[in-house]
Amino acid sequence: MGLQIFLFACTIALLASSSLVSAEVVKHSSHIPNISARKTLACLVERLVAENDTDSISEDGILKDLDIEGSNIDYGLTATSIASKDFGGIYAVKPLAFIRLARADDIVRVIRRALQSPTLTVAARGNGHSINGQAMADHGLVIDMKSMGDNNIIDVNVASMYVDVGGGVLWTDVLKRCLGYGLAPKSWTDYLDLTVGGTLSNAGVSGQAFRFGPQTSTVMELEVVTGNGVKTVCSNSQNSELFFSVLGGLGQFGIITRARIMLQHAPDMVRWIRVVYSEFDEFTRDAELLIMSEESFNYVEGFVVVNSDDPVTGWPSVPLASNQSFDPTHLPKKTGPVLYSLELALHYSKHDDSSTVNMLVEKLLRQLTFVEQLRFEIDSTYMDFLLRVNHAEQVARGSGSGIWDTPHPWLNMFVSKRDIAAFNRVVFQNITKGGVNGPMLTYPLLRSKWDSRSSVVLPQSDIFYSVSLLRFTHAHPKESEIKQMVAQNNEIVQTCIKNGFDFKLYLPHYESTAEWKKHFGDQWKRFVERKSQFDPKAVLAPGQKIFTRNHQL
Ligand code: FAD
Repeated sequence: MGLQIFLFACTIALLASSSLVSAEVVKHSSHIPNISARKTLACLVERLVAENDTDSISEDGILKDLDIEGSNIDYGLTATSIASKDFGGIYAVKPLAFIRLARADDIVRVIRRALQSPTLTVAARGNGHSINGQAMADHGLVIDMKSMGDNNIIDVNVASMYVDVGGGVLWTDVLKRCLGYGLAPKSWTDYLDLTVGGTLSNAGVSGQAFRFGPQTSTVMELEVVTGNGVKTVCSNSQNSELFFSVLGGLGQFGIITRARIMLQHAPDMVRWIRVVYSEFDEFTRDAELLIMSEESFNYVEGFVVVNSDDPVTGWPSVPLASNQSFDPTHLPKKTGPVLYSLELALHYSKHDDSSTVNMLVEKLLRQLTFVEQLRFEIDSTYMDFLLRVNHAEQVARGSGSGIWDTPHPWLNMFVSKRDIAAFNRVVFQNITKGGVNGPMLTYPLLRSKWDSRSSVVLPQSDIFYSVSLLRFTHAHPKESEIKQMVAQNNEIVQTCIKNGFDFKLYLPHYESTAEWKKHFGDQWKRFVERKSQFDPKAVLAPGQKIFTRNHQL
């Protein structure tokens, strides 16, 4: 999946839309009391066990025998204001405490403390960009991975072409550091203010994944603190069961404190292109051709556009620059309620002759069947291209429109190639034909680029489509608006089930073990075995709602 470049145009359009201006910006309290010196969780745990009353725990109550220097522990209102919220803005549960730690060994201590309690859970919180409370812990301990001190290193090894990064580091910072050496990771997400540990716990997908696989396929080594409270280095050849469990493991087996990511030489520039189709079968044929060809673009994504002049979801969201316009008279008369756009990027060096770049672009585009007059392109630096959604976020925040902070009932799924045409008919051309007030992405991926030993589950076919419905609500949304969006997501999932589509939710969210069992299918047994090996007391990542603390595995 991925949040698309489309979001930039979408955000601009959202900002321009008068109905959306004037915002409700969720105000997080940024004040974290600095209870420095020696911090221990012991007393806190004892009181929890004794009273099971988290509201009454006071600052004085914390800490006798567990040394965690240079950390701070925040509870009560401040903890709630940060750790009980996420990007989705739909769920909110109250943690016992929000903990900032200095190093991986402190995570070991925290987990070991939690293990002494019959009820306490521990959630790693990356950047809290989950949709459904996945990084929360109801009356549990939430570790702020982003603020990890020593652990948040970014150490580039130029000779061996890899970077060692702390689990709480943002991909934005990885990009900037690596570019200083002329290097870059191979596989990205569309938006980079996500942590390394957060995306590796899911997969990490964008327009490069057809070539390099998801981000999880570009990891060489991990340092993990397991739910047993053991810090372990693992890789394909060392503690490999833990390595593959953690990749795409939804935080269930361990907390990633360091990852070694493969690098490649970074290009300077990108030719960024969007082309438009009126027919879904032509769009998918071309997209699949590009992801399977030896010679292709470096980035291939696609999105669905409403056949209207709506600034957020319609034609105006397609052009890449303000001096470009979309002339709908070029669309065939029989065009349906939605259009499709392939989004492509070709890397090049600033030393390349522009005619050489142009020739290669023309050669690649010549084989495609888009509407000839509906082609848009710009040149961008590689860094700006990768930071495109971050830029859109800045614009949105700067305008005070509030759309970044209001709820986001997003739906992400992977749909088998076998069923994507039918999916188009029942979902894109029907249920969401009026748009979702945000980008609707769909593009193909190759199963062969995903390691089946990781914990991610995929549809059966060799090619499957990432589908993302990235809904934005209005500023000050009514509860009914959010409910309607969630209900439409449910309708889509139920429609897929009813039609027997081969699909899996990406960034999945289920409320019961039975539903999780169905999600994992024949991989459930392996997932449970991994859980009993690495987190048998189900201390970790309770917000995923897969296992409950001390659940009999
Ligand atoms: P969090 O939401 O903080 O945590 C997610 C889960 O991982 C939780 O269960 C948490 O406990 C666990 N976790 C966090 N850190 C660690 C750690 N160090 N070790 C173990 N477990 C951990 N996804 C894509 O694949 N492609 C995209 O293009 C893309 N674009 C996005 C754009 C936006 C604007 C948003 C909001 C999300 C996007 N996502 C995308 C989804 C994103 O990858 C996931 O939501 C991811 O989990 C967010 O990272 P985070 O650091 O905020 O994690």
